[in-house]
Amino acid sequence: MKRITALGTVVVAALLTVAMTSGTAQEQPRVTIQSMDVRENLYVISGGGGHTAALVTESQGVVLVDTKLAGWGQSILETIQLLTEQPVTTIINTHAHGDHVGGNVDFPASVDIIAHDRAASRMANMEAFTGVGAESLPDRTYTDRMTLFEGRDQIDLYHFGAGHTDGDTIVVFPALRTAHLGDLFAFTGPPYIDVANGGSGVAYPDTLDRIVESIEGVQRVIPGHIPPPSGSPMRGWTTWADLEQYATFNREFLDSVRASQGVGRSVDDAVEALDIWAKYPEYDMSRAAANVQAIYDELNAQ
Ligand SMILES: [Zn+2]
Repeated sequence: MKRITALGTVVVAALLTVAMTSGTAQEQPRVTIQSMDVRENLYVISGGGGHTAALVTESQGVVLVDTKLAGWGQSILETIQLLTEQPVTTIINTHAHGDHVGGNVDFPASVDIIAHDRAASRMANMEAFTGVGAESLPDRTYTDRMTLFEGRDQIDLYHFGAGHTDGDTIVVFPALRTAHLGDLFAFTGPPYIDVANGGSGVAYPDTLDRIVESIEGVQRVIPGHIPPPSGSPMRGWTTWADLEQYATFNREFLDSVRASQGVGRSVDDAVEALDIWAKYPEYDMSRAAANVQAIYDELNAQ
């Protein structure tokens, strides 16, 4: 435990020499680990894909949320070993995308891997999990809700419907008032809707509303990809209020697109008719047209 306290106050930049299994030349996977708070054993490991959360529990070893791109699992593992001698016992995968599950294969088969049941079935169809990779598929799945461990170690998993994919998990650490949202809240801006993996622009705002209405007591949010502030422990990042604003944004976006479709506007005119630009000056709107198209396709198919 002493090692955790000592390292909790510094940024550990782990420069490692794991060969990439894809990509060009010999890149060196490099991750950064930051403490969420000096009094806590929750860390964020960034770089190499979606953000990984690492909870060093009191009696259940280390629990990871997401494992980044293929080739980055070893760098996560070696970074954890700088913090604690406790083994990684559990991996929670928020959804079936390669930049969140690719590192699974670098962990021992004894690690308990958990995901939503539809995310698990989609992972079973990914090339990385064929053959020997099948050992790194989820060992346990759930449908609506699952609770792991108790007391300060308690972790709650929730699924509230389709959004980014059809198997997105929200991971809540209730004792720490913190939630990992995966790519349901990846960036501030129109979200990536992975229709091929069951994502839905029409369901997305409902799903976000259910999260905001059903989960209580959370203050801090670990987003899928929003860069963390520098420093360890980090000062400030994404909050529950940011998530509430993001839910409102997505609701307003859908309402506007639905109205445009109702009066027969073209996709281009529907983008033009979105009147939410000024309200969200910090948001990156580069995906707006793609999402209007995705929502039009869904509405037209209904
Ligand atoms: Zn994703």
